[in-house]
Amino acid sequence: MLDLPYDFDSLTAAGSMSGSSAIIVMDDSVDIVEALANISEFYAHESCGQCTPCREGSLWMSKALHRLTHGEGRAGDADYLVKIADNIPGGRTICAFGEACSWPVQSFVAKFKDEFVARGTADEERRAAAAKSQKVEATPELAMAADH
Ligand code: SF4
Repeated sequence: MLDLPYDFDSLTAAGSMSGSSAIIVMDDSVDIVEALANISEFYAHESCGQCTPCREGSLWMSKALHRLTHGEGRAGDADYLVKIADNIPGGRTICAFGEACSWPVQSFVAKFKDEFVARGTADEERRAAAAKSQKVEATPELAMAADH
């Protein structure tokens, strides 16, 4: 993809588009989940709210990405995000903003799904370990043993 010529036909053939022709370059130090969370928060904020798929979908995607970037992610969030994004476009909204809010989610998850799954899995494991340790601390036998 790095060698893809930047012209209409090449981008279309690659399943992309030139859009407004603006380009944001991100190196491999960028947290790709954070980057998508930032983009999705923008779309959720800017949706005018007339169409249910755009209003609710952009908000749900932003909330899921907020979870993923605040230690509350789930392993299934990547699939959840794509499921929402796939159900917004296709003539279900009045304007192209519905499509526009879906494309980054579809594209980021298609290209970096491992990073989204790893983040959600790590969050689930951390929560499970914390819950297990709280359960052990709360066991009455251990509390009595600690008293003696
Ligand atoms: S698709 Fe356009 S008109 Fe519909 S809610 Fe989104 S921004 Fe508003």
